[in-house]
Amino acid sequence: MSGNAGSAPARSLREKLEALGLVRDIDLALHFPLRYEDETRVLTVAEAPQGQAVQLEVKVVEAEVEVRGRRQLRVLCEDASGEIELRFFNFYPSHVKQLAPGALLRLYGELRHGWNGIEMVHPRFKLAEAGAALPDTLTPVYPTTAGLGQASLRRAIDAALARVDLSDTLPEADRERYKLMNFAAAVRALHRPLPGETLQDLDIRLQPARARVAFDELLAQQMSLRLAYAERRARRAPQLAAPGARVAELLAALPFQLTAAQQRVWEVIAADLTQPYPMQRLLQGDVGSGKTVLAALAALQAVESGFQAAIMAPTEILAEQHYRKLSTWLQPLGMQVAWLSGSQTARQKQAARAQLASGAAHIAVGTHALIVEGIAFERLALAVVDEQHRFGVRQRLVLREKGDAATAPHLLMMSATPIPRTLAMSYYADLDLSVLDELPPGRQPVLTKLVSEARRDEVIFRVRAACAEGRQAYWVCPLIEESEALQLQTALDTHARLVAELPELGVGLLHGRLKADEKSAVMAQFSAGTIQLLVATTVVEVGVDVPNASLMVIEHAERFGLSQLHQLRGRVGRGGTASVCVLLYAQPLSEAARARLKVIYENADGFEIARQDLALRGPGEFAGSRQSGEPLLRFADLERDAGLLDAARDCAERLLAAQSEAVAPHLARWMRGREAFLKA
Ligand code: ADP
Ligand code: MG
Repeated sequence: MSGNAGSAPARSLREKLEALGLVRDIDLALHFPLRYEDETRVLTVAEAPQGQAVQLEVKVVEAEVEVRGRRQLRVLCEDASGEIELRFFNFYPSHVKQLAPGALLRLYGELRHGWNGIEMVHPRFKLAEAGAALPDTLTPVYPTTAGLGQASLRRAIDAALARVDLSDTLPEADRERYKLMNFAAAVRALHRPLPGETLQDLDIRLQPARARVAFDELLAQQMSLRLAYAERRARRAPQLAAPGARVAELLAALPFQLTAAQQRVWEVIAADLTQPYPMQRLLQGDVGSGKTVLAALAALQAVESGFQAAIMAPTEILAEQHYRKLSTWLQPLGMQVAWLSGSQTARQKQAARAQLASGAAHIAVGTHALIVEGIAFERLALAVVDEQHRFGVRQRLVLREKGDAATAPHLLMMSATPIPRTLAMSYYADLDLSVLDELPPGRQPVLTKLVSEARRDEVIFRVRAACAEGRQAYWVCPLIEESEALQLQTALDTHARLVAELPELGVGLLHGRLKADEKSAVMAQFSAGTIQLLVATTVVEVGVDVPNASLMVIEHAERFGLSQLHQLRGRVGRGGTASVCVLLYAQPLSEAARARLKVIYENADGFEIARQDLALRGPGEFAGSRQSGEPLLRFADLERDAGLLDAARDCAERLLAAQSEAVAPHLARWMRGREAFLKA
């Protein structure tokens, strides 16, 4: 059925194909079907099973447009075995003409036993010639876009397949090593598979072809990431001196000793900074593992060598906390720390900007205001991005450009969201990775309790008891994703209720709608202990560090994601006292919510939680903004294809090391101009 006879198509075929990213022949060849239909066989009305798509060949007996009730076209047909009625609710006069008595039709659709007998609703049909040959391969159904029908897309792909060069980019020896089938055969098998007994066994038969395509895609990704890495390494960066007297002073002045893990990572970072090419390191450390001090040490090393450093955090609260912490640590050593945030007055921003441009300020701490407000540094050598997963690819790109023209600054990205191995190997393979796998000593594990909302009174009792002992507590308000206004209202209500229930306590309220100075006043009071109970929305989720707080209550915990719960729980257990995290939940719990709460209840290790999160949610969401725009992987699935990923990485390394001629054609085939994103 051709739908839009008469009206001229708004876009040309080429434009529609472009909308799907299909520009070159090879793009069309790599546009694989979503599923298949079996038109290789014709069944009879009598033998065709119900509830699955089948092909029939029938003759029209009579057709009529029914006007009573819902307007529809009813077409009675028959083959040698019996009768069937076709019903169409959308139809054109041209259809009625085609479906005249005596016409021979080939139908494809799902057959069912209606109250009028056997019927098909809206089958696909075409006029058949008696005895016309059947296709000998399955019919592919492609992902498409509005106005681009399967038939045109199929023709375009067929034409491309006839022209395109599908010669294997993998050397024969590698194909054997990884037991991969031939590329051209894999591509053709996926577009036009041979019919088997059932459509179900197709999955099994197509497995080698799918594996080959997934492998090639992963290989291209690994190659381009390694190349991006090498390309950055070829750039010049300010070469810093090894840590000197000031760094030693800071280490001596800290109220603690670095853990062995911090010491190890610090040595690696300090050595990176003495290289003539830019550091590109991702520091992963669970919540509370002590990443901030490493950022401070690295910044100090830059300043010691006569350069500047910038530290960027995703929220105002966190950035300000860093600002205060770095000021306490570094100002005694004669360092000037400048503060920049979106909510400052123009005058304040201007002043900070001038200090950085003149070099009067050594270190800038701020939110993304650091990158959007046209800040020029006199001599930037190091950019630190805290909670890097909260930033988009573009924002990180901009920070990188802040060096002077000839050099790129060293880049240290920090994250408390541990990246499971498969993701680290794929999306982050262009970075060097360091892991803080140890918490500072004396931390007592946080005891997690799951408490039904019905027992809220007991929780109030706990808050009172903790505060009576001189400690502090957080009360996190329910997340309401649908409406920010509702979320705010809930926070206000929760606060009012807790103020009434706990009259003897200082109860503060923190939410995203407060002005920056109001937020920082509340945080300052909580840090100082004049507020004992802090009612907050998820603005306290990342980074907030008040070691005296030992109780975390999360209302409607079932609404939060796993990494959020882990982050929130990480706000306590930072001092020497035993801490408790109470997860209040409302009955009844959905299956998914139950599974999430079980994971958080049973695990304290962020890596394990992230791994289980990945299993529950799949990698797409997990990798988040790294993938902004088009997903980098279309075919390969990091969970399912973890084995292929290992092989692809291994293969990429060998081919690159050997400067193999296979590299360039392979990348050209797969990358479609996505390289820019990989360089962030
Ligand atoms: P995160 O890795 O989550 O960013 P922070 O840098 O905020 O962790 O550190 C958490 C807390 O631990 C802070 O109060 C920090 O001062 C403290 N801290 C960091 N390193 C150590 C250490 N080696 N020994 C004791 N406390 C430490
Ligand atoms: Mg932190």
